[in-house]
Amino acid sequence: MPDLCIVGAGPVGATLALALADSGLDVVALDARAPGATLRGDRSLALSHGARLILERLGVWASLAEAAGAVTPIVRIDVSQSGGFGSTTLDASDAGLPALGYVVSYVALQAALDRALDRSGVDVRYGVVVDRVETAPASASIVPVAGGTPIAARLAVVADGTGAGLAGIERVRRDYGQVAVIGKLETRAPHGGVAYERFARGGPIALLPEGDRYGFVWTLDPGEAQSMLALPDDAFVSRFAACFGNRRDDFLRVSSRKSFPLVLELARPPVSNRIVTIGNASQTLHPVAGQGFNVGLRDAWELKRAILAAGRDAVGLRPMLEAYAARRRADRWAGVAFTHGLVHLFGTDLPFVRWPRGVGLAMLDAVPPLKRSFTRAMLFGA
Ligand SMILES: Cc1cc2nc3c(=O)[nH]c(=O)nc-3n(C[C@H](O)[C@H](O)[C@H](O)COP(=O)(O)OP(=O)(O)OC[C@H]3O[C@@H](n4cnc5c(N)ncnc54)[C@H](O)[C@@H]3O)c2cc1C
Repeated sequence: MPDLCIVGAGPVGATLALALADSGLDVVALDARAPGATLRGDRSLALSHGARLILERLGVWASLAEAAGAVTPIVRIDVSQSGGFGSTTLDASDAGLPALGYVVSYVALQAALDRALDRSGVDVRYGVVVDRVETAPASASIVPVAGGTPIAARLAVVADGTGAGLAGIERVRRDYGQVAVIGKLETRAPHGGVAYERFARGGPIALLPEGDRYGFVWTLDPGEAQSMLALPDDAFVSRFAACFGNRRDDFLRVSSRKSFPLVLELARPPVSNRIVTIGNASQTLHPVAGQGFNVGLRDAWELKRAILAAGRDAVGLRPMLEAYAARRRADRWAGVAFTHGLVHLFGTDLPFVRWPRGVGLAMLDAVPPLKRSFTRAMLFGA
C-alpha cells in the first residue's frame, strides 16, 4: 500500500510529490490531465520571494529560469486608485532584496514541475480522473471514475484545485459575484520590472510584468466582464488605458483574453480521517493580491515537514494531521482575511470608501515601518 496518494498533480500537488521524492516514502500522484497539458489554461502568477526559496530547494527554479522570459522579477509595485488621491510604491530596495517577487506563467511553471517529476522517479499517473475518496480507520481509498482500480493509501492528499467537487470532501463556497478577466498586453516602452495594482472604477486591476509584455487580471462584475470580453481588441485596449489614467498610457495590443468566476472556497475541515486538503482544494482565495499559489506552496512544504517529523508509521494518523493543521492555521486564515479584506476595501468604488482608501495608501507611502511590514506580508505571507 502506498504511503501517500496525491489527487491532483497541479502546481501544489506536484510540489508536494517532489518534496517527498527522496524521503523513502511510497508516493503516487494522480492527475486528470494528459502529460504535458494543463486543464486550467494559462494565467500570470506572481510568486513571492518565499515561493522562490521553496522552488529553489526542489531544483525547479533553475530549470524554470533557464527558459528565456519564463521568470520576470518585480522590482517595484505601483499602487494607485482612479478618481481619488493616494498612491504608493513598494520597492525591492526597501525590503533589501533583488526583487519583490517574480512573475511566471502557470503553464511554464507546471511544465517545469512536470519535468522535475519525470526526473524524480515519483509514480505519476496522468489521465486518471478521481471520483471520490472513501476512508476506513487504517487507510483511504481513492476511487477513479469509470471503473478504474481504487488505490488504498495511508493518506489521501487532495490537491484537485477549485470546484472539482470530489465526493468525500466538504467545502463551503461563497461566490464573490465577480469575474476575473485575464490576458496579455503589449506596451510601447519596456516594463522595467514595474507591476501595478490599480483600483479603478469597475474593479481592481493587477498588471504584472511577464517576459516582454504584461499579464493582467481585471476584476469586474459579470455583465461588465462579458462586454469587455466581447469588445474588439482595439476598443478593449482603449477602455483598459482609460482606467489606468496617467499611471501608464502606452498600451498597444491585447491577446489571450479569458475569464474566471471568482469564489472563496474552504475545505471544512482541512484535515479529516486519513485525508488532508492542500492548495486551492483547501482554500481558494480571490486573486486580488496574488496569494493563492503562494499559500498553497506553503501548504505543500509544511505538509512535507509534518510527514517527515511524524515518520512512516504515523502518516495519516490523527496526531500527524492535527500537527499539520495547527501549523497552517494562522497563515491560512491570514490569507483568507487579507484577500477578503482587500476585496471589500479595494473592490468597490463607492466614494465613501475611496477617501479612507486614499488615506491608507498615503499613510503607507509616508510611514516607512508600515510600508516595510506590508511589503513583508506580501513577500512571505503572515
Ligand atoms: C485569474 C487568477 C489569477 C491568479 N493569480 C495568482 C497570482 O498572481 N499568484 C498566486 O499565488 N496565485 C494566483 N492565483 C491562484 C493560483 O492559480 C492557484 O492558487 C493555484 O493554481 C492552485 O494550484 P493547485 O495545484 O492547488 O490547483 P490547480 O492549479 O487547480 O491544479 C489542480 C490539479 O488537479 C487536477 N485535478 C482536478 N480534479 C481532478 C480529479 N477529479 N482527478 C484527478 N485530478 C484532478 C487538475 O488537472 C490540476 O492539474 C490566481 C488565480 C486566478 C483565477
